Amino acid sequence: MSDVLGLLRNPAFDALRLRQDEYAELAQASRNRALANALVAVFVASVFVPLIGLLYVVPWVGLMALILYKSRQTDMLIVQPDEHIGHSTLESLQNRNAIAGALSWVAALIGFPLLSGGAQEITLLLVTLVLMVSSTFVFSTSPLSILIYIGILGIGAVSSLALSGQVEAMGAAILFTISSLVATVQIRTTFVKARLAEAAVIEKDEVVSLLLREFEENEADWLWEVDPARRLRAVSPRFAFALGRAQSEIEGKPLLEMIAGSNWASGQFPASLHDLAERLKNRENFSTMLVQVSILGEERWWELSGAPMRDEQGRFTGFRGVGSDVTEQRKSSEKIAYLARYDTLTQLPNRLQLTEALGEALRYSVQWRTRCALLMVDLDRFKAINDSLGHMTGDKLLAQVSARLQSLMGENQMCGRLGGDEFAIVIRDASSAGIVGDLAQRVIQRLSDPYQVDHHTLYVGATVGSAEGPRDGGTVEEMMRNADLALYQAKDLGGGEHCRFEPALHASAEERRQLEASLRQALGRDEMLLHYQPVVDAHTESVVSFEALVRWNSADHGFVSPGKFIPLAEDTRLIVPIGQWVMRKACEEARNWPEHVKVNVNVSPEQLLEPGFHDEVVQALAATGLRPERLEIEVTESIFLRDASVARNALEQAMALGCSVALDDFGTGYSSLGYLRKLKFSTIKVDRTFVQGAAQGSAESLAIINAVVAMAKSLKMSTTAEGVETIEEAELIRELGCDKIQGFYFGRPMTAIDARSLFSAAQERRA
Ligand code: C2E
Ligand code: MG
Ligand code: MG
Repeated sequence: MSDVLGLLRNPAFDALRLRQDEYAELAQASRNRALANALVAVFVASVFVPLIGLLYVVPWVGLMALILYKSRQTDMLIVQPDEHIGHSTLESLQNRNAIAGALSWVAALIGFPLLSGGAQEITLLLVTLVLMVSSTFVFSTSPLSILIYIGILGIGAVSSLALSGQVEAMGAAILFTISSLVATVQIRTTFVKARLAEAAVIEKDEVVSLLLREFEENEADWLWEVDPARRLRAVSPRFAFALGRAQSEIEGKPLLEMIAGSNWASGQFPASLHDLAERLKNRENFSTMLVQVSILGEERWWELSGAPMRDEQGRFTGFRGVGSDVTEQRKSSEKIAYLARYDTLTQLPNRLQLTEALGEALRYSVQWRTRCALLMVDLDRFKAINDSLGHMTGDKLLAQVSARLQSLMGENQMCGRLGGDEFAIVIRDASSAGIVGDLAQRVIQRLSDPYQVDHHTLYVGATVGSAEGPRDGGTVEEMMRNADLALYQAKDLGGGEHCRFEPALHASAEERRQLEASLRQALGRDEMLLHYQPVVDAHTESVVSFEALVRWNSADHGFVSPGKFIPLAEDTRLIVPIGQWVMRKACEEARNWPEHVKVNVNVSPEQLLEPGFHDEVVQALAATGLRPERLEIEVTESIFLRDASVARNALEQAMALGCSVALDDFGTGYSSLGYLRKLKFSTIKVDRTFVQGAAQGSAESLAIINAVVAMAKSLKMSTTAEGVETIEEAELIRELGCDKIQGFYFGRPMTAIDARSLFSAAQERRA
């Protein structure tokens, strides 16, 4: 109420907006009031001039004019505010003007009848009442000033009636004054309330239009509206654009027809569209609903929100909402989800998805008392291809492998890529007998067929290890570990095979672990020694060199064959210190032989990849004083499998010292003749299998040995046949043209002392 009367200023009450409204009204009201007062004053003057003469009336009219002028001035100040005059000053000015105006009327009301002897007293009273009533309605920015004005006029009227002794009329005047005061307050209240409501409406409108503008400016979003029959209404340009049509073309068309594409005719909507249709039909709210739409034949995704509209009578008038095209976001989020679960190279499920599938399969097998299986598939010789032909070719090969693997998958079988050349297959229900073994065999066969990649015919094999759950493992981790152990076992057997997990594998893994622990201590415990096998000239049969072959006599495990511990040493990089020791020891021993006898030292790829290999050779030669020409390094084709250039550099450095390099076990590895052009080998050692093969009449082996010999001749390399065990084999090899022979027939690997004694025996013989 205080606010209404302008007595108090509540900060929560938006006085500013109200005031602005008031000012607009005040400019008009002030003029009207001034005019009305002036007219009434002129009328009163014209009535009393004949009765009391100009002497009293003229000063009164002057005073009145002055007061009206002052009031008008104050009002104008309010309408066009002057910074120097505060609001409260203006208010008190208004009040003062009201008091002055009212008092001058009271002066006339009481004074004029006294001077005129009571004439026209009623006229004046009526004029006063009219003034009171009109003040009630005429607007003022200071309701208090109006109350003061009415109050003083009321007191004047009552006093005037009291003076003339009209007691009943006095009571009526009092009642009239009070009701005028009450009416003023009520009208004022109504005014404020109306203005506030109006202001709120305006404000709401502004907010809404602001929001709408924002919508329209945000390119992705649009507004949509349908009538109760779900036909498009008030189509915005942007919505039309989203629909790929002209506004006029779609106005009044059913929304669903516009977004269902060719499905409209069949009624076979995608689930999300069906859902939208249901919501519209049931007049239900929906928000950020993902809908699959078809716009001009293109599949797109929209995010729609909508709410049913109702008029004042509560009748349903349709739907209105917002929407946006989220196809791109969806594509990228789909892509992200895809990337998280699929291998990008092969498009197969990745490790994450495989482990999930395996977990699911395990749960299923426990619940239904069935068996699930995990097969780990590893490619044989993949690294060789990847390293020699490049990653691009390797990747293409992997893609073909994946396609073949995928083609073998039956119901409830999932294959995926674990990484590198490792794949896995999860069989959800492997209860029927033989299913795992059959699939493993088919995988090995299919993956071993030749591949055509970039004009190369490539051969890779596959090795499979399998575990069956829940028997072989109750958890994903256990299953993975055990299938891996089985795979390891299969690899150990030479690859191209399938091994099932069996608990004994844990034992062999454990044995391997123990072997490794012992191997670490072997050099320190002085358990290593070297044997030497003679290599003889094919024609003169005199010893031209000895191959140093390492032996391990373990305190824990007894005699361990190099075929067993060398791969382990290579896996664990223990081959580096062992190889270093061998190199030293062999050079040292060679000093005891005649100057023309060389020593052959086997070197693993791991050693060549060590940055210090060259220094090692230099130090071994320097420490023993062996001429570099007497040292021949034996490497296998596997050095070309990994970082071929590093290995080649290391060997070239050794050759620069004067050492020679032999290519060992030729024909068993990857047998790309290209290797022979990459490095200037001094000797090619033909593997034992071909020698044995040739001896047994294998045409293929014979052809290979012939080819190698011919090629070696043309490349100015010598050939050594390995594994010659009989005189017949020796004869054959000689005929085939090999330069040197190594094998049990001419001598088994022997101790250093035995090797030395060969020369003393020869000397004795000669003597
Ligand atoms: P390799 O370099 O091919 O060595 C020749 C292997 O053939 C030796 O086996 C040898 O005993 C065997 N052998 C020689 N003549 C005959 C024969 O007439 N009949 C049969 N059946 N076998 C014959 P070993 O000593 O068991 O060595 C196996 C492999 O271990 C070697 O094959 C070599 O690759 C590796 N190795 C041996 N010592 C070392 C070494 O000090 N360092 C490295 N990195 N590897 C070594
Ligand atoms: Mg060798
Ligand atoms: Mg060999």
